[in-house]
Amino acid sequence: TVGCVALDKYGNLAAGTSTGGMTNKRWGRVGDVPIIGAGTYANNNTCAVSSTGWGEFFIRAMVAHDISALMDYKGLSLEEAAKEVIQKKVPELGGDGGIIAVDKNGNMVMEFNTTGMFRATMNDKGELYIGIFNDQEN
Ligand code: ASP
Repeated sequence: TVGCVALDKYGNLAAGTSTGGMTNKRWGRVGDVPIIGAGTYANNNTCAVSSTGWGEFFIRAMVAHDISALMDYKGLSLEEAAKEVIQKKVPELGGDGGIIAVDKNGNMVMEFNTTGMFRATMNDKGELYIGIFNDQEN
């Protein structure tokens, strides 16, 4: 996985995710990454989210959109929403993985329920970026 989320100085949020897919690349499989709301999502009113992990579960949990929706409709902070989805909802379904996210105020979260997730942050001239760099196929 290579994923990123960004907040620009105009308040625009963006998320992008790239993946090699799952090991052995089952023919015809579509993972969570290209499905907006599952592995990738951004909404200027809430947050931007990019994911890595077992895509079938990220689709079922609608991970990226669900984090945004918990902020939007239940008033959770980004950190609370990310914990709820990554530490509770996804493992309860049997899945694992993680996300990086930034909210409209520039708060950054890197939440994962796996043993590790390579990640980095950068802050340049008031603009924030964070990325996932996972060199293993999940
Ligand atoms: N989420 C991806 C998939 O299920 C795998 C990954 O890049 O973490 O296809």
